[in-house]
Amino acid sequence: MKICLITSECEPYVKTGGLADVCGSLPPALSNFGAEIKVFLPLYGIINREKFIIKPVSGIKQVSLKLGEKEFKFSVYNCKHTDGKTEVYFIECAGLYDRDSIYTQDSDEDERFILFQYAVFLTLQNLQWAPDVFHCNDWQSGLIPALLKLKFNRDKLFTSAATVLSIHNIGYQGIFGKESIYKANFPESSFVLGGPFEYNGNTNFLKAGIWYADLITTVSKTYAEEIQTSEYGSGLDGVLKSRSDNIAGILNGIDNNLWNPVTDNLISENYGIDNIRLKEKNKVELLELAGLRYSEHIPVYGIVSRFAWQKGFELFFDTIDEILDNNIQLIVLGSGEEHYEDFFLKVSLQYSDKVYVRFGFDNRFAHLITAGSDFFVMPSRYEPCGLNQMYSLNYGTIPIVRKTGGLADTVIDFGNNESGNGIVFDDFLPEQLLVSMKRAEELFIDKPLFDKVRRSGMSADFSWERSALQYMNIYNKVKKPVSGT
Ligand code: ADP
Repeated sequence: MKICLITSECEPYVKTGGLADVCGSLPPALSNFGAEIKVFLPLYGIINREKFIIKPVSGIKQVSLKLGEKEFKFSVYNCKHTDGKTEVYFIECAGLYDRDSIYTQDSDEDERFILFQYAVFLTLQNLQWAPDVFHCNDWQSGLIPALLKLKFNRDKLFTSAATVLSIHNIGYQGIFGKESIYKANFPESSFVLGGPFEYNGNTNFLKAGIWYADLITTVSKTYAEEIQTSEYGSGLDGVLKSRSDNIAGILNGIDNNLWNPVTDNLISENYGIDNIRLKEKNKVELLELAGLRYSEHIPVYGIVSRFAWQKGFELFFDTIDEILDNNIQLIVLGSGEEHYEDFFLKVSLQYSDKVYVRFGFDNRFAHLITAGSDFFVMPSRYEPCGLNQMYSLNYGTIPIVRKTGGLADTVIDFGNNESGNGIVFDDFLPEQLLVSMKRAEELFIDKPLFDKVRRSGMSADFSWERSALQYMNIYNKVKKPVSGT
């Protein structure tokens, strides 16, 4: 099975969120099942070429590509992935990818990813490598199925290729003006009202992917259902419903080499289910770094997140005073939209003896919060899969989550179930968060139950093997017979 995995981020090269974790971990797990994988990624200026030994691929240099009226030149680089087997190809086009951040609001954002997707096909042609499946991820590779069917269908190399589109977050669709269709070299006639590319008079890359992909996956079973409703579909529920028979939910796995309390070298003390009491040493260090007083009697609530609307932090706005009226501590790591940063900054100044907030992206501190907190809070409005609740479960840190998407599929409320592993609330309401925080406090005092809930979480299996096997089944389902046979 030959898989071409196309993504806009991938651990360890470049990451803004869970997509990178998935695209970094899935290929090694697939290659354990005998798949041969090539990953494609833009060569952003911020990627460290020396560190990852990223070298030019001979013969694919300064390739000309005309998109609409503009002429571009791209080159291809590659390196071996962390498993030593998967090949990672990087599309270099300095004018497009050397920016301060990997996603931009610049007027050529569409061109950045149109060029990327064309370059994938041109590179495969150059390498004469025929994938069985193009596995696309989110809108940045959403045009691949359309390009395959409408532009590259006459090349024998691709006649037996199928396409799978994974939606990691329906909130980001790649919506651009109508002119994007010309920039992608599709004819005017492709832009039909209600057709594959058109969305409220604009071009929508993700919609085109949903329309043309042979199969669509998303990152949890609940999210697969949710996105087919108007509440969660972000306007694409109609087109998703029309593809209902071809949508599957596969929960992401977590990388046990990176997120495992037994071996994690970013935390201060390793521990596992058999010596869970050692976890406390991480709490001590976490509080020391945060400049807060340690007490085994005070529960610590951790948050590691992008600060975005999706993550639901509004629920804290009117409840924070009541929450912090209790004898608890809150440690927050995150970055993103300014009004959330302002909010958390204000809270940390007002409650400096109870709250510590760090802004920015800090992997080590994320690990320490996961290991050192007693509870981990994710009040998401929606959550396609969510990784942090799975990390927390693995680390014996009890998640407090809203019942949506992957959170609903992984966290079981301890009040409803003998094997409960967390605290779950149903509705996106401040009072429900408040009740959940209170329940956590009570649980923290009831040590035998607290211990039982922690152990339930730690014994769950979120390994990539399980998810990779489901992806293999999907690939086998869409795989076409090789032409001529
Ligand atoms: P999303 O992709 O919506 O951001 P996920 O839960 O799927 O959410 O994945 C988030 C990933 O990014 C996790 O690995 C999490 O630990 C990491 N992360 C998020 N914010 C930060 C941060 N400020 N510093 C370090 N890691 C972060």
